[in-house]
Amino acid sequence: MTVAAGRLAGTGPKAAGRLAGTGPAGSAGRTGVDLALTGVTRRYGPGGQIRAVTEVNLTVPAGAVVAVRGASGSGKSTLLHLIGGVERADAGQIQVGGVDLTTRSARELARYRQRVGLVFQRFHLLPALSALDNVVAALLARPRVRDRAARARAALARVGLADRAGAFPAELSGGEQQRVATARAIVGEPVLVLADEPTGNLDSTASREIMELLLSLRDELGTTLLVATHDDQVAAYCDRAIQLHDGRLVG
Ligand code: ADP
Ligand code: MG
Repeated sequence: MTVAAGRLAGTGPKAAGRLAGTGPAGSAGRTGVDLALTGVTRRYGPGGQIRAVTEVNLTVPAGAVVAVRGASGSGKSTLLHLIGGVERADAGQIQVGGVDLTTRSARELARYRQRVGLVFQRFHLLPALSALDNVVAALLARPRVRDRAARARAALARVGLADRAGAFPAELSGGEQQRVATARAIVGEPVLVLADEPTGNLDSTASREIMELLLSLRDELGTTLLVATHDDQVAAYCDRAIQLHDGRLVG
């Protein structure tokens, strides 16, 4: 519990070693965490009459790649936001690496979010910043990280964009922008990557490239990965698919 909490908060000895780049090359890379959700419920609106996610039970082993499927409005994004510590559950428990998010303080949750990589359908890059600076920006809330530019360059190289570091988002294709967004998601060495319809704005070639990139991260880094998607081709890359219907897990 203590080790896991330190790891999630980025303050434990293991995490400190990884952040400082001093951990052993092999073990430093195995960063994934397991998930265990019990009775997770999130409602919106006055009186909570909009049931976005209802009593979801789910376990995901570290390093698994899981497709989150379901029609529009079925609760996919809400579920990812709850697991990512972006929103709080109204009921239930969300254990990440053995730590229950639902009992964390706002401050602890903010630190946890620094260890989660988010990738969105609309890439959400800052248009006035270069690819490099978009990735650097993801590290600005981490005061102890010193070599931000070097790390951002390494992340861009990891997604195959070393030679486009100075380009602005408007100068990049959709697939390239999503690769920058993926570099931004992984630059902090996340324990978990949550991708919300990451290929929704991409053609099938670029979609394949993004999925292959995400899969290679899992293979090399052991990162646990959840991918919300409507796309059968994307789901086929995943180890397993779960299905939401009106906020409930139905398969
Ligand atoms: P999906 O990602 O599968 O399309 P969402 O998780 O975005 O589904 O939404 C699930 C349900 O919760 C929908 O009915 C949606 O309208 C509702 N919802 C999502 N976010 C909010 C919000 N911030 N306020 C009110 N209702 C919301
Ligand atoms: Mg959604």
